[in-house]
Amino acid sequence: MDYDVGKDIIIDVKRYLRGKLIRGNKFLYRIADERGPAGSFMDSDSFSGSDKNRDNLKKDSIAVKKDRMADNEIRLEEGIRYSADLPAQNSLFEKRSPEKENKLEQIDFEGLKEEVSRCRRCELYKKRTNTVFGDGNASAGIVFLGEAPGKNEDLQGVPFVGRAGKLLDKILQAIDLKREDIFITNILKCRPPGNRDPKEDEIKACEAFLKRQLELIDPAVICALGRVAAQNLLRTKTPLGKLRGRIHYYNGVKTIVTYHPAALLRNPHFKRPTWEDMKLLKRIYSEAKEQNVV
Ligand code: SF4
Repeated sequence: MDYDVGKDIIIDVKRYLRGKLIRGNKFLYRIADERGPAGSFMDSDSFSGSDKNRDNLKKDSIAVKKDRMADNEIRLEEGIRYSADLPAQNSLFEKRSPEKENKLEQIDFEGLKEEVSRCRRCELYKKRTNTVFGDGNASAGIVFLGEAPGKNEDLQGVPFVGRAGKLLDKILQAIDLKREDIFITNILKCRPPGNRDPKEDEIKACEAFLKRQLELIDPAVICALGRVAAQNLLRTKTPLGKLRGRIHYYNGVKTIVTYHPAALLRNPHFKRPTWEDMKLLKRIYSEAKEQNVV
């Protein structure tokens, strides 16, 4: 079977493998980059065939693992740094209760929303007015991710309302998007009292909901808004300033990081870098559309 080297094939492989071979995604990219024509890795004989092929694959796997240990960034393209998926053992979304998580793995979008609305997995349920599941298009190509609902969000049950929400709408407008074109949600679905940062145990309790949301939406790109969302999604302590301006991967989905609109309201100097991030976001989204990925 002949295949041309091309993005379409790489992306099809990525989408096929998403959720199946989390650690294998970059491994396959690496084979495509370094082992000659993409046809050689798309050809099923390469996987199931000779001992020699298996030995070569094993060697590549070890080489990639070593690279990751040395540096999470694995390739450079047009000045944008790409980061490897984090090792599975560091995944934000470790399984916590097999019965509960198995149930979530089968649930549809409405079922998930229902499940969140009656959730008591962490203490935050006690003081919430509403859960804030998310808003927008459930099959959007772009997901914006904040940290947690604030006071107005808790009252209305909708994410990003109030001044920060209005600014986000303007940012979307600037890149020709509307709320209906995207989906927007938070790491936590209930408001932490006094808008404090989410606690580790709350994030852990809520993470399976976000994981399932992202699986169901299956966006082309995720945009993490602010330090808390970015660091928890990407499971890193790297400062926001160093995370932005480059492409990361969350379970195979391209992910970028930018400032939270509330931070922009406090500090107008963040506007220019945010605009750069939005141009990158638009570029990734446009490329995905050209390739019919969304
Ligand atoms: S924050 Fe998440 S885990 Fe905690 S009660 Fe709300 S929905 Fe449940």
